[in-house]
Amino acid sequence: MVAALPLSSPAVTPVDTILPPTLPIRTLANGVYAVLGDTNRGSEGRANAGFIVTSEGVVVIDALGSPRDGKRLLRTIQATTSQPIRWLILTHHHPDHHFGAIVFRRAGARVIAHPDRRVLAAEGGPDELVTDWTRVVGRRAMQGFEYADTPDQPVTTSDTLRLGGRTVVIFHPGAAHTAGDLMVWLPAERVLFAGDILIEDGMTMVVDGSSTALLHALGVIDQLNPATAVPGHGAIPIRPADLVARTRAEIDSLRTEMRGAVEHGVPMQRALAALPPADATRPVSLNSRRRRNAVRIYLEEERSYMGLDSTQ
Ligand SMILES: [Zn+2]
Repeated sequence: MVAALPLSSPAVTPVDTILPPTLPIRTLANGVYAVLGDTNRGSEGRANAGFIVTSEGVVVIDALGSPRDGKRLLRTIQATTSQPIRWLILTHHHPDHHFGAIVFRRAGARVIAHPDRRVLAAEGGPDELVTDWTRVVGRRAMQGFEYADTPDQPVTTSDTLRLGGRTVVIFHPGAAHTAGDLMVWLPAERVLFAGDILIEDGMTMVVDGSSTALLHALGVIDQLNPATAVPGHGAIPIRPADLVARTRAEIDSLRTEMRGAVEHGVPMQRALAALPPADATRPVSLNSRRRRNAVRIYLEEERSYMGLDSTQ
């Protein structure tokens, strides 16, 4: 008897032979692409990434949050161009942006990143971060993982990559979202890859950076006046200046509230009570991020009020 099992049946196809699906992309300028994160999940979804195709190879911006997603990103790029991958630029060292980096290193890319890899999530050490993150994305997604975010080419101020007639400016805008923030600017195309300094709803997290540095970074974006700004998460804004203004307004209002509390001797817990509660099961929901920012900003304002921190 012949079993009527079609050759393409998932039951007989080893999982490893199923090619990962490609990710949605958007053309921002000739040869410049955004790889879009989860639609409809806004600031809580998978990160955005990007790539720039030149006649001398491809520059990739961010590697997504696991080797599996890194492979999907690589396949997405390879479906668009046959140019080799030359460089991977990391906008910062949060796992959702670089845990797929090993895929690109194995594909021959050299890594450009800020050398300061400190983030609060890694306080327990690099192994604990991997364990924690595996709980988030699953064991399967993490197969083949190795850290690959130590830069071959560190950038602490700014650097310019010239490749195949294109100019890519990479610069550190200050420790705004994290100590190791970098932004990527294409002056000819007026395209900015902002990393998590911009996210869809404007509530950029400053727990690994500082609100003062974030306000400075927003000023830098205003000066660049990009035609397109790709945020770290969520939709690409129609007008970049609007998202910058919204981000500034969110941070300014928290600073005003927390400064007022500090000046009136209101303890932090009471100052926080005025905010909507955090969402217990959604650590990066809008309310959860606002609350964590409020804690950080309260401490910044307290240090500033007590004259402990000359940089605030
Ligand atoms: Zn981040």
